[in-house]
Amino acid sequence: MSGKMKAIVKHHRGYGAKLQLVDIPSINDHEVLIKVKATSICGTDVHIYKWDEWSASRVNPPYVFGHEFSGEVVEIGANVTNVNIGDSVSAETHLVCGKCSQCLTGKAHICKNTKIIGVDTQGCFAEYVAIPSANLWKNPKEMPYDVASIQEPMGNAVHTVLAGDVVGKTVAIIGCGPIGIMAVGVAKAAGAAQVIAFDVNEYRLDLAKQMGATSIVDSKTVDPLQIVQQLTEGNGVDVVCEMSGHPIAMNQGFKMVTNGGRVSILSLPVRPVEFDVTNDIVFKGITVQGITGRKMFETWQQVSGLIHSGQVDVKPIITHHFSLEEYEKGFDLMMDGNCGKVVLHP
Ligand SMILES: [Zn+2]
Ligand SMILES: [Zn+2]
Repeated sequence: MSGKMKAIVKHHRGYGAKLQLVDIPSINDHEVLIKVKATSICGTDVHIYKWDEWSASRVNPPYVFGHEFSGEVVEIGANVTNVNIGDSVSAETHLVCGKCSQCLTGKAHICKNTKIIGVDTQGCFAEYVAIPSANLWKNPKEMPYDVASIQEPMGNAVHTVLAGDVVGKTVAIIGCGPIGIMAVGVAKAAGAAQVIAFDVNEYRLDLAKQMGATSIVDSKTVDPLQIVQQLTEGNGVDVVCEMSGHPIAMNQGFKMVTNGGRVSILSLPVRPVEFDVTNDIVFKGITVQGITGRKMFETWQQVSGLIHSGQVDVKPIITHHFSLEEYEKGFDLMMDGNCGKVVLHP
């Protein structure tokens, strides 16, 4: 398909982005052209929009950013066999090499040569996006496009929560951004006995409550460690899902986890964080895990199944809808923090 399309372009090495007319991407034999129906704004996109240290060192404007989406297949390359025109699809956003030892041993989510759609390549804040067929995930026909568009971040939540056993356990979710809120729903659906959600934003704590948190804790008014002592009869929590990236909150996570427990870290603190390894990790015999991406495609199957079966109702998480043209409103909301997932509809 040739012609022009509307896209949100990271147009310069500085704050903001611009709505521009750009060429509709052309596809090679292994790619698929997708008409984007819904695309959600991720924290990563906000970093790129604001132009912080990380984005300045990673991305190369001008380019179209955005990576979370769902849409309809409108054109397929000559060698594509896994989808057909008209299919509803989303995409795994990690482009992996298929050749490194991780890729060859079933751990492509930690491929050494990972590139990310919309960070290292052209993204989906546009009317059309070209995606390698190997990255596509086919959605059930009945799944609404807005819901389908948030499966990628939901995959982060699922990957973190289900990186160990949660059945009958007490799970702490530290940081209730959209992925933290999703993690609350996942932990509940997976059979956690208690899900304690921590944040400093009332709006987001309220969303965590709606998603089934058994307790919500405003960490700026209540001492998180004290409340955990009360809620667990002095035992501490079995599992910590760290999604705040805040050094103090992270340390509280290590203090509140019980001996032999698990701390799974998805957050990306901007600077190195200090921990008491001796007392909070070694003597407690805990497991600490870094979590990145989604297992390909085990996590996608879990996400799709949890949503499609109704085990996790993601509707409360999607709080705002805008047209592509209204992207500035979406980014302002994300920076303000009084929102769940913000979805743009090209
Ligand atoms: Zn994302
Ligand atoms: Zn690889």
